[in-house]
Amino acid sequence: MTEHTSHEIDVEKLETSKINAVNFDNLTFGRTFTDHMFICDFENDEWQTPRIIPYQAMTMEPSARVFHYGQAVFEGMKAYKDKDGKVWLFRPEDNYNRINKSAARLAMPEFPKDYFFKGLTKLLQIDSAWVKPGKGNSLYIRPFIIATDPAISASPSSNYRFMIICSPAKAYYTDKIKVLVAEKYSRSASGGVGFAKAAGNYAAQFYPTSLAQKRGFQQVIWTDAATHERLEEAGTMNVFFRINDTLITAPISDRILDGVTRRSIIQLAEDNGITVDVRPITVVELKEASRNGSLKEIFGAGTAAVISPISAFEHGEELFELPNIENSYADSLKDNMLNIQHNLTEDKHGWRYGI
Ligand code: PMP
Repeated sequence: MTEHTSHEIDVEKLETSKINAVNFDNLTFGRTFTDHMFICDFENDEWQTPRIIPYQAMTMEPSARVFHYGQAVFEGMKAYKDKDGKVWLFRPEDNYNRINKSAARLAMPEFPKDYFFKGLTKLLQIDSAWVKPGKGNSLYIRPFIIATDPAISASPSSNYRFMIICSPAKAYYTDKIKVLVAEKYSRSASGGVGFAKAAGNYAAQFYPTSLAQKRGFQQVIWTDAATHERLEEAGTMNVFFRINDTLITAPISDRILDGVTRRSIIQLAEDNGITVDVRPITVVELKEASRNGSLKEIFGAGTAAVISPISAFEHGEELFELPNIENSYADSLKDNMLNIQHNLTEDKHGWRYGI
């Protein structure tokens, strides 16, 4: 852990909240931000006094390294409000650990745990009115770290900025998605940065995803870069396959993001007596299971939608459609997760974190 002296957080509040101008029934994901944001700068080899200030634009020199070399990592997590008005996070320690794993891979300094949790807690207390109750409603939280050194030389920055911004998100019920199995492009490779939430991983997905979208697919199922034979992730989600009554998902590797939802789904499935097989699964096996009728479900798992069921996939210019089944694992596991996140059921694994 980085050495630092423990500072209190400086807080500057917005005089009049912007909340009354926001139509919470008509939110576009990631476009509306709460009244405040958290900032902490890394200078002279240490994290400086953290601040909470009104959400606002900021200035930075055009030479800041983040703009040139993409030295940037981020997280995505959510806060939920229960019927008594209490705000909860879901397994935030996993996000804390993951941003530091990402930071280490991008040669960035670790962010101190007490700053992360004190900052997040204080920010959510100040902006708690922005977390709306109701199952599925949430406040999306975006912690991130950027390289701020004004220097265009391709080497790590000496100065960084850690920030947290928050954006209200409504419950959304997405239709099932059609996906294209990647045969040419890759999201990540062995020895690379796929396991990190590095900003550049996402930019690199935009082009192949847009090609798939032009052909009527919403997402790409990423395969391993070396052979394109193993199924690894679905867009920006981990991916699960149900063959007969077994749930299969690829093991975590340096090419796959270690998703908090994935980990939770594996546990909840096992709690419910579902067999979970964490093992490599190939395109050949998937197509064969679809042809012989044993493939029942495919779904993506991630913080944004919890679970995104998939209706069809294409590979080798052949479309494979999933059956419509009753009592799907996707529906019951999603419900299970939402009930825990919204404090509607027992939390036997201690995943909720009260603000
Ligand atoms: N894979 C990728 C590439 C992602 O960006 C995400 C979203 N963070 C996930 C999987 C799902 O992770 P989580 O469940 O922690 O949101």
